[in-house]
Amino acid sequence: MSTTIKETDIIVIGAGPTGLFTVFEAGLLGLKCILIDNLDKVGGQCAELYPDKPIYDIPGIPIQTAEELVNALLKQIKPFEYSVYLQQRVESLIEHKNDTDQISEWTVTTSENNQFKAKNVFIAAGSGSFEPRRPPNIKNPDKYMGKGVSYSVKDKGFYSNKNLIIFGGGDSALDWSVELANIASSVTLVHRRDEFRGAPNTESQMRKLVNEGKVLLKTPYVIDSLIGEDSINGVSVKNFETKQIEDLECDEIIFLFGLHKKLGPIVDWNLELENNKITVDTEKFESNTAGIFAVGDISDYPGKLNLILSGFHETTLAVRHAFKRCFPEQRVPFRYTTTDTKLQKKLGVIE
Ligand SMILES: Cc1cc2nc3c(=O)[nH]c(=O)nc-3n(C[C@H](O)[C@H](O)[C@H](O)COP(=O)(O)OP(=O)(O)OC[C@H]3O[C@@H](n4cnc5c(N)ncnc54)[C@H](O)[C@@H]3O)c2cc1C
Repeated sequence: MSTTIKETDIIVIGAGPTGLFTVFEAGLLGLKCILIDNLDKVGGQCAELYPDKPIYDIPGIPIQTAEELVNALLKQIKPFEYSVYLQQRVESLIEHKNDTDQISEWTVTTSENNQFKAKNVFIAAGSGSFEPRRPPNIKNPDKYMGKGVSYSVKDKGFYSNKNLIIFGGGDSALDWSVELANIASSVTLVHRRDEFRGAPNTESQMRKLVNEGKVLLKTPYVIDSLIGEDSINGVSVKNFETKQIEDLECDEIIFLFGLHKKLGPIVDWNLELENNKITVDTEKFESNTAGIFAVGDISDYPGKLNLILSGFHETTLAVRHAFKRCFPEQRVPFRYTTTDTKLQKKLGVIE
């Protein structure tokens, strides 16, 4: 938790391909960025939904997997000044008038209570933040968050010497069962059937640990209820076939049921929306509020296509206007990267 407000030129909400490329275009103009994403990694849909799929329509790159594209973008922005804050959702945007030039500034607050301030906010939020799916049939499981319930692993060490129950049947549930078996006092993996959707190799590792008595596998079981007054002491699980209920004691539960997309707090920011997208002009890609830009899949204008290259174009134009808001007295520079010696020095290609 932090209460110090970090200042920058552009706050970018969403570290998908558009958010990452914003750092490059901003960097060319000498602007600094802070990227914030709800996920535990950068890359947005490319990283979360289809890292291994080849993409064929990035100009000049006939074939590249989504993961390779994200890695290439990270390499491309390496010379520039930026920082990334992951696993936190931007919750609020508050406007202030700057005393000297009267250009609005924005304070952004995240779910981790981090605060950032800038004259420009770029919403590059795709179709919303990726949120963990909650366990079905459990009323308000979030009341136990931080008290025995979580939806992701933020710090492996936290589970050391704890009795842990993991729910889920995909890659995350398998990966963390294997990884935490060496750290936790006990690991129980609960899934509704004895088939897993994760990588076969990780499933084999998990089954080996089950045979060695290092992981307890409970299939076919589903959650019935959580046990605990103020914090979790255990969980009741129901056999999917016999319907019999069983109580399991534990200190911690991790629900790894995958993610779904939610527009979330963006709907409360008084921005003009059309079908859950932010309406922008096509000169600056600015919303109905000065200083708030929307780029990538989240933006809406006549003819909009949800393609990676559209996001690259949109943010390239939007950063030029962001520059004007930061330096109203200056002309926005325009240089080709082929002849931009300042950039080439940064890249280390010339002395
Ligand atoms: C299976 C599949 C295949 C595709 N193939 C292609 C293709 O071949 N070519 C192509 O051009 N496009 C393709 N696309 C579309 C492409 O992936 C999207 O156009 C692109 O990812 C949009 O990038 P973005 O940066 O705008 O948003 P996203 O990639 O959606 O990233 C947005 C990020 O913002 C974060 N976020 C949202 N709200 C908040 C908040 N309040 N706080 C913090 N973080 C937040 C989200 O967690 C997310 O990580 C494909 C999509 C899918 C699903």
